[in-house]
Amino acid sequence: MFLSLIPLWAVHQGLISNAKNQGENLVSSIAKTMIQRADDNVSGAVSLMNDFALLGIASCRPQDLAHMRRMIADQFWVRDVAILNADGSMLCNLFGDAGSFQQSGNGIAARDGNVVMELAQKSGSREQKTMLTWSLASGNLLAAFLPGEAMAYDVIPKRMRDKGVAIVSLADGTLLNMAPRQEHAQAILPFDERSFSVTIHSEAFPYKVSVLAPFEVVWNDLESLYNKMIIGAIFLGVLFLGLLGYIMKPKRGRTNEIEEGIENGEFIPFYQPTFDVRTGELRGCEVLIRWRKPNGQILPPGTFIGLAEATGLAIPMTQALMVKVVDEMEDLHEQRPQLKIGINLFDDHFENLDIVEDIKHIFGPSKISYKQLMFEVTERQPLNDIERAKVVIRNMRGLGCQVALDDAGTGHGGLAYLQQLGFDVIKIDKLFIDAIGTDSFSAPIVDSLISLAEGLDMDIVAEGVEEPRQVEYLREKGVRLAQGYLFAKPLPYDKYKRLIEKMSPVIQRPEDRRRAGIRSQLRTPLPA
Ligand code: C2E
Ligand code: CA
Ligand code: CA
Repeated sequence: MFLSLIPLWAVHQGLISNAKNQGENLVSSIAKTMIQRADDNVSGAVSLMNDFALLGIASCRPQDLAHMRRMIADQFWVRDVAILNADGSMLCNLFGDAGSFQQSGNGIAARDGNVVMELAQKSGSREQKTMLTWSLASGNLLAAFLPGEAMAYDVIPKRMRDKGVAIVSLADGTLLNMAPRQEHAQAILPFDERSFSVTIHSEAFPYKVSVLAPFEVVWNDLESLYNKMIIGAIFLGVLFLGLLGYIMKPKRGRTNEIEEGIENGEFIPFYQPTFDVRTGELRGCEVLIRWRKPNGQILPPGTFIGLAEATGLAIPMTQALMVKVVDEMEDLHEQRPQLKIGINLFDDHFENLDIVEDIKHIFGPSKISYKQLMFEVTERQPLNDIERAKVVIRNMRGLGCQVALDDAGTGHGGLAYLQQLGFDVIKIDKLFIDAIGTDSFSAPIVDSLISLAEGLDMDIVAEGVEEPRQVEYLREKGVRLAQGYLFAKPLPYDKYKRLIEKMSPVIQRPEDRRRAGIRSQLRTPLPA
């Protein structure tokens, strides 16, 4: 569930950090431009005063004032120049109108030392101006007045209008100007903790620029993208959840399905006949499980036994299968003791004696005798606990059942395995039967398996016989039993029933014969 929120979280984080970067870049570029403009304007005024001083025209003499007026005409931002007493009182100015002005706060010296900056207001005017003073050799002061715009030239971009503000103030905090205009800017404040802000100090002069912008400045542009991406992320999250569900579901779903299948009797036996290759007689079968789905589809064991094993359902599945085998086979086997039934077991069956109890329960009361049963243990996977398996096998044999080593030659059990576990039969895997008559490296293994089985006095069944030449070879080697497509595929109940009825004679037990009396003599059984 949480995993599905990852795309959402990633989109959110990604866009927020993108917005932060954009916002920070925006305010700092505005601040840099503004400080640059202010520095240019102030430097222009300072160099003008410097020129006045150098030319010796910084005085109240009319011709000097006229000279200064001419020079100031080139200067866009310098609105007035005045000569002051050392105490700051005005002696004269270029435009003659101002009698006096008021300074607010103390002047602050620029790096150069000869220049001092402060905020001043001419009497009779509401407009505050930035005043730069220059100390003259005479002890008097030369003062230049700059309007607010010279200090905070409005470079606020369109998208920040009504949203961001830039403030230029002296180093002591005295406000010099704001952009946009002060009344306007103040309406925009205050900002919150998500706002972007930056302050840059002028290197040459004692003022700083602070630019503030609310988060929305960048967010408005990103919002529609954000909304689109969030929708995309939700979609991805849902897709992800669905996919996860899909991946997880088959396992859970199929486990339930197997459980239900067991309850509904969907696991059914197919029977692959085993023959005596010398006489051609039917000798029994191997039970091979199939899953008959409610829609009639028949699934082979490879598609479900792995899952059944992994989920602990292999044992109930085998129980259900054995019950079916009894149902279908007991009447056919009652009078055919020569027919055997091979049943495959799983590793789990060798963990305890439950399988022995199951055999007693299921086959004990049936017409199938223990002697007709053969349980197959595969060599493909090594058994978990050999000692425990030995006890289980001993108990099964104790009932009279046979135990076979299935897929012999494929595992790592080897000779020790064969001897220790006490098998009655070995079933040679198809792999080695296929090698007969070829020069495959597996070919000699058949011979050694055969002689091994003979040495240990075990019966041999050859599996997966498909070619007549394989039969010939087996016959030559004295192998009697075989199963494979050459003879028959695994057959459903009715077909195997017909085969039994056709090929396998009924052998009456002596007591039945006695009970049947004279009739038995009319039906002479064929020799086994
Ligand atoms: P297995 O025990 O070795 O069974 C023999 C497999 O070989 C069967 O496949 C059978 O159909 C196939 N076969 C027989 N003769 C020939 C042949 O001539 N040519 C070819 N190509 N194949 C042949 P199936 O029925 O698909 O079973 C596969 C495996 O599933 C079995 O191998 C066995 O290990 C397992 N299995 C089947 N039913 C059960 C069961 O009830 N319990 C357990 N524990 N395992 C089972
Ligand atoms: Ca088998
Ligand atoms: Ca086998």
